[in-house]
Amino acid sequence: MDTGDFDRSIAHGESALNYLKTYYTPAYPRNYELWYTYCVGFNKSLNEAINRLLKRNGRVSPAEALKLYDEFLSPTRLTDRVEEVGGMVSNEIDQITEMLTGALKTTGAYGNSLDGAREALGTAGDRQTIAAIARELALATKEMYENNQKLEARLLDSKAQISELKDSLEAIRYESLTDQLTGISNRKHFDQSLTRAIQEAEMSGRPMSLLLGDIDHFKSFNDLHGHQTGDQVLRLVGQTLKNNVKGRDLPARYGGEEFGVILPETPLQAAVQLAENIRKAIKAKELVKRSTGESLGRITMSFGAALFRPGELSEDLIHRADQCLYAAKRAGRDRVLTETDDQTEALSEVA
Ligand code: GH3
Ligand code: MG
Ligand code: MG
Repeated sequence: MDTGDFDRSIAHGESALNYLKTYYTPAYPRNYELWYTYCVGFNKSLNEAINRLLKRNGRVSPAEALKLYDEFLSPTRLTDRVEEVGGMVSNEIDQITEMLTGALKTTGAYGNSLDGAREALGTAGDRQTIAAIARELALATKEMYENNQKLEARLLDSKAQISELKDSLEAIRYESLTDQLTGISNRKHFDQSLTRAIQEAEMSGRPMSLLLGDIDHFKSFNDLHGHQTGDQVLRLVGQTLKNNVKGRDLPARYGGEEFGVILPETPLQAAVQLAENIRKAIKAKELVKRSTGESLGRITMSFGAALFRPGELSEDLIHRADQCLYAAKRAGRDRVLTETDDQTEALSEVA
């Protein structure tokens, strides 16, 4: 950790303690974590929820703090929701099974009534007996019809509930793979997708490329303009990546201010071209501080691009892209480098 990170974390810690004191909340680790996260500002939905409370009540009570922690920070939150939805799905399945078992019994009984009626008809001699059999049959048919109606209604209801549960599961899955700050894929999704892309490239023999990008001098930007403004820049980079890729390309926030783009079915030259487009698009944006309208100049990014080599592991591919990124930094930043570029070769000679 460098001194900048140290100073910033202490400053966030002090602000967090101040909030605890201001709202008279015990400094238990959970409460501290809540306010620390608020001060850092990464968790957008948490900050919005706290700001709403502050606007409405002028404070966050200890009980509200607990609720916020559970809702936005609890590490088990996603697991809890997965379990909750999982429980609801299995409950729904139980109900359907019960319903179908009931329906099978009713159908069986109806079949028996039909059999009975057929036998009785065979021996029935007079009109009265036949009329009685017909009445019984009509009754059994009506009952069967009503049961079917009930079954249909309940199945429709179940269908709606299952579709809702499917949406909940999808939302949970989406959340677990998305970076909260930028809204693009997170590291977990990046890792999963890279493994899949490698398997696919191995099978198809088609080229696959990887870009790693890192914002230049971002520490000074943060120091100069503040972390919150820095976060706005990260969002802007995320959005720019998203706007420049298409199809199955996967942009992700790889780490703090590092981004990765997985490019299936893409040769190295096309990957370099894409990185160039992104680099130029980012450099072209003049940054303006939202609150004051003050101009913050521009930021630049450096990129490393690597082509997947059949047989290699994902960490080796990442490592090679990272080496290229490092070479781009060494060569003066604000550029895209690959292993075929002289600077990388020069670098490996030095190393
Ligand atoms: P270089 O050009 O060599 O990449 O210089 P740099 O200053 O960007 O590199 P360094 O890795 O030293 O610093 C990265 C900085 O990015 C430090 C850290 O505070 C900042 N950073 C990392 N994650 C976040 C984040 O989520 N939000 C904000 N605002 N800043 C972040
Ligand atoms: Mg970095
Ligand atoms: Mg950087």
